[in-house]
Parts: sequence; structure tokens; C-alpha cells
Amino acid sequence: MDKIYNWGIHTGNLNSSGAALAIKPDEALKKGSLIVFTGPSGVGKGTLLYPLLKRHPELHLSISATTRSPRPGEVDGQHYYFISRPMFQQMVERNELLEWAEFAGNYYGTPRQPVEYQIQHGRSVVLEIELEGARQVRQSYPNALQIFILPPSLAELENRIRQRGHDDEVSIARRLKRAQVEIKAADEFDIQIVNDDLDDALNQLENSLPFIHSALSPQSPPVIQLPISQSAP
Ligand code: 5GP
Repeated sequence: MDKIYNWGIHTGNLNSSGAALAIKPDEALKKGSLIVFTGPSGVGKGTLLYPLLKRHPELHLSISATTRSPRPGEVDGQHYYFISRPMFQQMVERNELLEWAEFAGNYYGTPRQPVEYQIQHGRSVVLEIELEGARQVRQSYPNALQIFILPPSLAELENRIRQRGHDDEVSIARRLKRAQVEIKAADEFDIQIVNDDLDDALNQLENSLPFIHSALSPQSPPVIQLPISQSAP
């Protein structure tokens, strides 16, 4: 039996009729309101995002829904919303996902409401998603800032996937195969960063986010500055 989630929204996200407030694609979206983080599984997106979000609490990380089983240490509602396939399907049918995709045999998607809620309240929202999802967001929200994280090499990517010890051989093979496809698409993104040395990559990342950059330099005033079709592309 699936739990009932409020998707991290506590108040104020519904209008008087109870319907979700809709953000008009791109109109309300300044560059940087929505930041898409993509890169092959194992490249270290989470490792990069963690210190970034710690340094910049003004950024809001979207929590995805997935049909994948939790890994040891993963907490429902914190790392992902772990939901059943029928519930995922229902969310797709109700257009409750901003984007979604199948990856290595599981479904992953971004719940729409919390993202719209945060953007409407002036926050920048970070989506950590794979390539197909990033492409869907690009269609719906061309003003989203799209960042691609590259590994120094495929061999190093394989090392990292193996070292984290989460995946069986089948899953590792699927992830590596998919990684090659994703890496070929890196040029589609606004910004590409090679995650070789973590500090270097983090610096590059901060420098590439204009609103964060200005938040770091006190002289300049800080500048604060989403429907997906019901079937996957
Ligand atoms: P993992 O199973 O390693 O947590 O995630 C597998 C892949 O799914 C990663 O590349 C991750 O970025 C991606 N992913 C996580 N959440 C979402 C989501 O909401 N939508 C899409 N399209 N991909 C996601």
C-alpha cells in the first residue's frame, strides 16, 4: 500500500479550488530559477550537489519519485519518494510529474507541485535527473539552466560505480552502456563540468551560476532570481 505524500509542501500551494497553481512554461521562469543537473550515474552529481546546497541554502533540491528499491541508508522522502509502479503510473496519468523517464529498469520522475511551489516563492530549484528527463525539461522550460557533469574517463566512471558498491553486475553494465549515450549528448547542455577534482568542479559550478556568484561577492547586489506530455518521449 502506497503512502500518501504531500511532496514536501506544507501550505499554500493550492488555490481556492484546490487545484495546483500552474507555472506557465518559461514565462515566469528567469534563467536560474530551474537548474538541471545531468550526468552519467556514478559521475558524482550528488557528491557535488551536497556541498553546493550546504553553502547555498537558498537553493532547493527537488526530491524525485522512483520505483527503484531503496539502497541501504536511503530514506523515503529524503533521498527519493519510493513508490510503487501503479502509483508512478497514476502520477503520469494525472500529469503530476514535471518530467519522467525509465532508467536501468526503474522509473524516475520529478513531482511537479513542489517545484512550482518553490519557484513561485522565489527560490531556485535544482533537478538532479538523467538525460531524457533533462530533454523534456528543455522542451517545456527552455529557460532552465542545464548543466552536464562529465567523468574524467569511462574507466574512472566504472571505478566509481563499482566503489560505491550499490549495484549488481547487470545494473553496472546497464549504467555504463547508458553513460556512453549520455556523454555523447553533453554538448546539448549550457554548461559542462568535468568532475575530476571535487574542489575544482565545485568552483567551476559556483562560477557558472550567476546568481550564486553574486551572492558570493558582497559588492554586487544578489539577483534572486514547467507539462510534460503524458507519455515518455
Ligand atoms: P540512481 O538509481 O543512481 O539513484 O539514479 C539513476 C539515474 O536516475 C541518475 O542518473 C539520476 O540522476 C536519475 N534520476 C534521479 N531522479 C530522477 C528524476 O526525477 N527524473 C529523471 N529523469 N531522472 C532521475
